[in-house]
This record gives sequence, C-alpha cells and structure tokens, in this order.
Amino acid sequence: MTYVIGAACVDVKDKSCVQECPVDCIYEGARTMYINPDECVDCGACMSICRLDAIYWEGDLPDDELQHLEDNAAFFSQVLPGRNCALGSPGGADNLGPVGVDTPFVAALPHSTVRKHP
Ligand code: SF4
Ligand code: SF4
Repeated sequence: MTYVIGAACVDVKDKSCVQECPVDCIYEGARTMYINPDECVDCGACMSICRLDAIYWEGDLPDDELQHLEDNAAFFSQVLPGRNCALGSPGGADNLGPVGVDTPFVAALPHSTVRKHP
C-alpha cells in the first residue's frame, strides 16, 4: 500500500510534505508532487502536514481521485517526456532533484484561475 498525492497539489506544490517524509520518497514534478509507491513506508506523516488535504492513503481515495493512484506510480514507471528511461526507484528525492516534467495526465489538467493556498 502507499500514500497518494491528489489533485489539490497541482499548481500549489509548496513542498511542506517533503520535510516530513522519513524516506524522502516525495518527488517534484513541474506542476505537482508525486509519491513513489515502491519507496513509501506508509507512515502517514505527509498526510497530516498537508494544509490542502491533497494526500490520501490509497485505501481511502475518493472516486474522483483514483486516477492519481495510477498516475503517482506512472511518474516512476513510465518514461517521462524528455527522458530516455523511467525514473524507477531513485532512492531519494533530494539526490534526484526536481524532475521538471509531469506525467501526461497531470500536464493535461486544466490550470485553475483560483489561487488555492489557504
Ligand atoms: S503539502 Fe500538500 S500541497 Fe504541499 S506539496 Fe505536499 S501534497 Fe502538495
Ligand atoms: S506516508 Fe510516510 S513514507 Fe509515505 S510518502 Fe508519506 S511521509 Fe513518506
């Protein structure tokens, strides 16, 4: 099982959750953050810190966020635009640095005109 970052993070990406993760498995795309499901140890620390309630345990995902379960995983398992191999399990977001691109699913999401910071 894993935790999943959903739609509320898109175009916010303030990275408050990153410092909470004991295994540094929350990675930075262009518009959102992604949790590596193979590295997440299911501790829940990130979920409690997110002011936008963007993070879910996969078993609690509402129907309209289910696509993000597959999509967080796809960020690591698929070859992203501009890369020649999948990220896989890099073993730490700090070492990898910002990836600079998103999955095709997130890249295609509409841009909100409403500022989402509380
Ligand atoms: S704390 Fe929430 S909104 Fe902020 S980067 Fe993490 S998931 Fe996104
Ligand atoms: S549940 Fe724990 S291990 Fe998984 S992403 Fe959140 S803080 Fe990291």
